[in-house]
Amino acid sequence: MIIKISNLSNGEHNFVFEDKVNVLDLENPFYGKYKSSLVLNKLHDQIILSVTTNFKVKYECDRCACEFKSNLISDYKMVYLMNEAPEETESLNVCYLSREADKIDITNDVREFALLSVPMKKLCREDCKGLCPKCGTDLNTSKCTCNTEEADPRWKPLMELKDKLNLN
Ligand SMILES: [Zn+2]
Ligand SMILES: [Zn+2]
Repeated sequence: MIIKISNLSNGEHNFVFEDKVNVLDLENPFYGKYKSSLVLNKLHDQIILSVTTNFKVKYECDRCACEFKSNLISDYKMVYLMNEAPEETESLNVCYLSREADKIDITNDVREFALLSVPMKKLCREDCKGLCPKCGTDLNTSKCTCNTEEADPRWKPLMELKDKLNLN
């Protein structure tokens, strides 16, 4: 994903990149093709780049373990300065280019920001009921006969008492 910046006029420019995710060295949960839309603003020695990438992803639900497909949108902004880099360059979103630079390669940035945008929590749907902790039945599609009342803490002392009585 290389943008040629030599002879680029001041003002706004738009680019679109489309390719397979393995070109970005991205694997599971990413699959298929991605599409990046770029808005580049050039002003003298400064380039501001906004990148929005649409990915296809395949996740495993944290609650019911089913595999589901989803879209992931990753966006970031990067400022390129054609200046001498200061001693300390800690900022994640500022890059320094030499005045002779004739291109910008955004492959690594797109990849890094894609990885950062993968959510920690993955649910096939907001109200996924998950699996029964006892028998493993998928509670989204069917009911099981497990006694779930037992899990209710209010009943616990009573159940314990019942167990004791049964033992004696
Ligand atoms: Zn689920
Ligand atoms: Zn069950």
